[in-house]
Amino acid sequence: MPVVIIGAGPVGMLLGGELARLGVEHITLEAREAPGAGSRAIGIHSAALTAMSASGVTDRILSACLQVREGQARVGAATVTTIRFDAVRAGSLASFPFVATLPQAATESAITAAAASNGAPAPERGVQVLDVIDEGATCRVITDSGDVHGDAVVIAAGSRSRHISSLIRDGRRRAYPDRYVMADVPDDTDEGPRAIVHLHPDGVLESFPLPGGLRRYVAWHRAGST
Ligand SMILES: Cc1cc2nc3c(=O)[nH]c(=O)nc-3n(C[C@H](O)[C@H](O)[C@H](O)COP(=O)(O)OP(=O)(O)OC[C@H]3O[C@@H](n4cnc5c(N)ncnc54)[C@H](O)[C@@H]3O)c2cc1C
Repeated sequence: MPVVIIGAGPVGMLLGGELARLGVEHITLEAREAPGAGSRAIGIHSAALTAMSASGVTDRILSACLQVREGQARVGAATVTTIRFDAVRAGSLASFPFVATLPQAATESAITAAAASNGAPAPERGVQVLDVIDEGATCRVITDSGDVHGDAVVIAAGSRSRHISSLIRDGRRRAYPDRYVMADVPDDTDEGPRAIVHLHPDGVLESFPLPGGLRRYVAWHRAGST
């Protein structure tokens, strides 16, 4: 097989769609039986929208997202600064003068649908990759249901990637001390499509509007606090 992609998350599926568009044969191996439903990443910036235009992903995202053109930083009721996302002037980036907000599951659906319409095969689900071994001319991908050989192998398994193959198990890992609590809840503010960052000596509370009348809150959780 010319290319084997490990992982059908946003990275693996976007790559599969682009390879299909270029006529490169590939398969995608995915451990999960079904796509995840989690919200996770919600903001897609102008540069990404521009990069995904040709594949058809961007049109699908635009039909489902909320367009956020402004963010404010506040201390109490006072606005200390305003960030304009619609002030993008550089070349093609100006085509998307906003941050598109969309739960990650919906973004992944858009990527998957665009990949399929570009001729990408559906991922082979329920296949757990156990190791990837460099055999010189090809790589051997060892899975729980047999081996696959690829001229090129792309490990797009997110944070699990470093555990899959000794080829990328380089031991570099840093602990990230900050912790955040996040939730997507019905938006009962009057903020409309505006992102807000509340600054307070005790921490930071961010909130981002989402489609469907929802708002994402992210609260910084001070180390050691309960
Ligand atoms: C709670 C939360 C909030 C987040 N918020 C943001 C945010 O606001 N902004 C932002 O930019 N990012 C955010 N992220 C991070 C974002 O979700 C990831 O960066 C993104 O999902 C990475 O995409 P990916 O395709 O590289 O990996 P993933 O989405 O992790 O996909 C990897 C895929 O590989 C599969 N896989 C793993 N191991 C194997 C194996 N051995 N064999 C076969 N398949 C395998 C997995 O099942 C999965 O489907 C958040 C993450 C979380 C958890």
